Amino acid sequence: MSPGPETPVPETPAVEFLGVNKWFGSAHVLRDVSLTVAKSEKVVICGPSGSGKSTLIRCVNGLEPYQGGTVRVDGHDLTPGRIPAVRRTVGMVFQSFNLFSHLTVLANCTLAPIHGHGIGRRAAEARARDELARLAIADLADRYPGQLSGGQQQRVAIARALCLDPAVMLFDEPTSALDPEMVQEVLDTMADLAARGMTMLCVTHEMGFARRVADRVVFMDAGQIVEVAPPEAFFERPEHPRTREFLGRIL
Ligand code: ADP
Ligand code: MG
Repeated sequence: MSPGPETPVPETPAVEFLGVNKWFGSAHVLRDVSLTVAKSEKVVICGPSGSGKSTLIRCVNGLEPYQGGTVRVDGHDLTPGRIPAVRRTVGMVFQSFNLFSHLTVLANCTLAPIHGHGIGRRAAEARARDELARLAIADLADRYPGQLSGGQQQRVAIARALCLDPAVMLFDEPTSALDPEMVQEVLDTMADLAARGMTMLCVTHEMGFARRVADRVVFMDAGQIVEVAPPEAFFERPEHPRTREFLGRIL
């Protein structure tokens, strides 16, 4: 039976983890992880070092194979054959900025569009200048990474990812390697992106950002999702003792 006009068709989630299990050798690092991220949703993942946060988000774009369960991106199972297609729709920003030091900012932003996606140079450069302008770093286009602050480099890394028009952005501790005075400019850039409706999965311990931007906060410990809640509930009324203990240590 097809749904009538009064029955809204549920929108396909952006990302789904369904009972995902992963081992590194004998270490069981993801234990039955299930999480559904809706389109435009912003999810912040926190938890102690070694709890599996990076491994989990790296599963989304096929950077980590997993041994049980399913990851779905935009409704499609992440089979090996689909990894190249998924990587075109999932942008990732790491702790270390990973810019090419011998290329200008503009060339960093156009490299993958031109050489990986067959976009013409002129169109790729126009898009890159657009993204740089939206992140308020248009004036950096002709500089080399070594001439930029850490905060500027990370904002370029975000612009570069956006040039591929991702449907989802993954962030893995994007401010952890920054000097403290540069953290805020990167968080502000991420908040702007969130306000534009981007679907975001962010591993971060910046709890001010989580409060301000997240729709839900996920707490991981020892490879498991221990607690998931909207920020207000997560910070004011954490349910699990391990969440309380973690928050007590970092807040
Ligand atoms: P987090 O990002 O929360 O700090 P990770 O996802 O990096 O945690 O790591 C989860 C667990 O997997 C840790 O015990 C870590 O030591 C282990 N691990 C991560 N990467 C590898 C790897 N390439 N080989 C073996 N073990 C790994
Ligand atoms: Mg990590």
